Amino acid sequence: MAKERIVVFTGAGISAESGLRTFRDSDGLWEEYRIEEVATPEAWIADPERVLRFYDLRREQVIKAEPNTAHHAIAALEKGYHVDVVTQNIDDLHERAGSSRVLHLHGEIRKVRSTSDPALITELNSTSLRLGDRCALGSQLRPHIVWFGEEVPGLPLAASLVERADRLLVIGTSLQVYPAAGIIHYASPECPVVLIDPNAVDIRLGRVLHILATATAGVPSLVDRWLAESGISE
Ligand code: NAD
Repeated sequence: MAKERIVVFTGAGISAESGLRTFRDSDGLWEEYRIEEVATPEAWIADPERVLRFYDLRREQVIKAEPNTAHHAIAALEKGYHVDVVTQNIDDLHERAGSSRVLHLHGEIRKVRSTSDPALITELNSTSLRLGDRCALGSQLRPHIVWFGEEVPGLPLAASLVERADRLLVIGTSLQVYPAAGIIHYASPECPVVLIDPNAVDIRLGRVLHILATATAGVPSLVDRWLAESGISE
């Protein structure tokens, strides 16, 4: 029998307990910069060095961070279910925890891409990217990040995964950043939706079970329950 399909949709909150600050934290990196100065195509044109510095810092933090028990629990969910992780995060903590299908809607901090051919994406084998670092075609490399105002190439695939999901688990996202936040609306009316976030979230779906907990407090126990339902006990 085919395994039930679960889509796990994550935001910055799942990585908060790994030491990576969320978008809205008042003490965060984002506080020191304005979005328009570091995370838009206009910022890249105006001051590429500032943009590169900003992402170098984020990359250093991601490399130092470790997946937490919520990332590991999501990876373990694959023992009983077909799991697709759709994440707004640019860190690689889901992959390092062992999840095998991870779709990054907003790019990946440890990758870079060509400014002349967006399909030319490579791993960055260093912590920093510099002006003058070039792709195989000779063009400047940029962070493999979807900036505000840019198209989100993974969106159609994410929407179709959510459409086919038997359950949707949403973790640690304020659902304020569109169009990514809109993918939850592709869930079928029969698909149960569980949200794990310690704060109120304007989720705008009628049938949500909101578990008011941090990711590490809420996710492992939910995963244990769901694995037990599927006949697998941890
Ligand atoms: P957000 O900052 O807007 O929202 C974070 C959410 O996480 C909030 O709802 C908050 O209540 C919740 N949260 C805080 N601590 C939590 C915890 N311990 N456990 C569970 N939930 C917790 O972030 P967002 O919705 O992901 O959107 C902002 C954008 O910022 C995204 O586009 C994302 O790409 C980017 N971002 C990524 C990272 C990362 O890659 N780790 C970090 C910061 C921001």
